[in-house]
Parts: sequence; structure tokens; C-alpha cells
Amino acid sequence: MKIYEKAPAKINLLLDVMRKREDGFHEVEMIMTMVDLADRLEMEELPRDTIIISSQAGYIPLDEKNLAFQAARLIKDRYNVRKGVYIHLDKNIPVAAGLAGGSSDAAATLRGLNRLWGLGISEEELCELGAELGSDVPFCVTGGTAIARGRGEKLERISNPPQCWVILAKPPINVSTADVYGKLRANELKHHPSTKDMLSAISNGSFADVCAHLGNVLETVTLQLHPEVLQMKEIMQRLGADGVLMSGSGPTVFGLVSKEAKVSRIYNGLRGFCKEVYVVRMLT
Ligand code: ATP
Repeated sequence: MKIYEKAPAKINLLLDVMRKREDGFHEVEMIMTMVDLADRLEMEELPRDTIIISSQAGYIPLDEKNLAFQAARLIKDRYNVRKGVYIHLDKNIPVAAGLAGGSSDAAATLRGLNRLWGLGISEEELCELGAELGSDVPFCVTGGTAIARGRGEKLERISNPPQCWVILAKPPINVSTADVYGKLRANELKHHPSTKDMLSAISNGSFADVCAHLGNVLETVTLQLHPEVLQMKEIMQRLGADGVLMSGSGPTVFGLVSKEAKVSRIYNGLRGFCKEVYVVRMLT
């Protein structure tokens, strides 16, 4: 039997870091939502007790370093599954981009194997398993729009933001999430975005207010390290996007746009500077 799962990318409408904890993790407050740019996973049961990963993307690990592999191993170990699985990853989400591609693949693997092997694991338990793989995985298990607290694993579902176009531009650099958090001076941040204002913008369905309250404290690090990300933000603003922000630890910059008429102008303008530009919708 073969099954398929979609693994969408996420963007952070807001990312705040409250403090660095004693256990080395950061205490965060993030508002995340999914966009319609997705990897596609095909999973097929194997009679042998083995996990095999393949992908058309030449630039991701296919061994136990792959997050889909880790998710499959975790579910097999925890639920004593002796059968194996072949997972093909059709990668569309850019890697190490701040779009949680690996985390979403891990979450899709958990959801998919739960179905493939009829394990009957609740969504809550899948989220707990996901938290063992990475801070963004629980959100990717449930999808939708949520506020995440703790180190990202404490999730509260909220309503979806107003529908709009999302233009993603990934400058040709790789950013390590660990490196960005490592360089963040969490206790010296002068400005914090307002979670409260973003939550009321979303619950009021006000697109203009969502754009006005976008904020990501990791920009203080990534924009310093990589001026091309700042430049990308400026270009997107100049081309007329309604709200512009870096997603996660970067380097992807997204622009929110309400009017379809503006989209192709912004897309064409960006393509002059950047090879990787995507136009998608929010997954609401
Ligand atoms: P986040 O926003 O959660 O920090 P990201 O979008 O910045 O994630 P990923 O695309 O998840 O980053 O990739 C981060 C690292 O994980 C890469 O170095 C990559 O080699 C590794 N990796 C492991 N499994 C996968 C996978 N299935 N897809 C993409 N990258 C993976």
C-alpha cells in the first residue's frame, strides 16, 4: 500500500524571544501559519524492518540525519513496529530557509505512518513525539495558525489571518538556525514585537493591522550577518508589498500582498535580483 502526505512550509508572522533559559533553549513566543508551498511525501510499506529515504533533491541528507528518517525511526521504536517503510521526498520547500521544510517533512511522516500502519495515535501524542524531533515539529503536525510558546512546543490554535498572497524570496545564502540563536543577545533586546496587537489584528480580520504588527527579533542577528537579507526586505517594500518580514532565522523574506494586481509586478521586480522567488497563498 502507498500513501501520500503534503508537508507545507510555515512562515512566522511574529517571532519574539523572551529570554535564554537555564537549559540552553530560548523562551519564545511565535505566531505561525502555513503557506501553500509544500513538499510531497510518498510512503510505501516494506516487509523488511528498514527505513529507506529517497529524494529528487540532491542537497539533503538521505540517511539518519534526515528528519523524515528520524520521525520514522521514532514511531517504529515507540510503537514496536517491525515493518519497514520506503519514503520518497519530493522537495519543493527551499532547504535551511526559515520555512521549516525539514520539520514539516518530519510531521508529515508521523501523520502518514500513523495512517499507513493503523496505529491510532492521537494528534496530541503525535505532537509530543514531534517535540522530541524539533521545536517546530508539533506545529507542523497540526498546521493551521497557532501561537507557540515555551521552546515552541506549547501550542494554542488561533483563527487564521485574512487570506492574501504571500511572496517568498530566498537570497542565495545558507543560514544556520543554531548559529542565529547562538548570536542572539536575548536579554539585551530593545524592541519586542507586540503579540497582543498581532493577536487582535488576526481576530479582527484586519489585513492592514496584521501587516503593521509583523515582527521578528531574529532579524537583529541575521540582517547584521547577511546584508543581502536586509536588501531583499527593502526591495520588496519598494516594490509595494503591504507587509514584509524575514521568516524564522532566515534568510527567506516574505511579503504579504492583498491585491492580485500588484503580485506580478512584485514577482517580476524580485526576479531581477533573486533566483528563488515563489508566489503562494496562505493555507487558510
Ligand atoms: P526552521 O525554520 O525549522 O529552522 P529551516 O527551514 O531553516 O527550518 P530546514 O529546511 O528544515 O531548515 O533544514 C535545516 C537542516 O536540516 C538542513 O541542514 C538539512 O540538511 C537538514 N535536513 C534534515 N532533514 C531534512 C529534510 N527532510 N528536508 C530538508 N532539510 C533537512
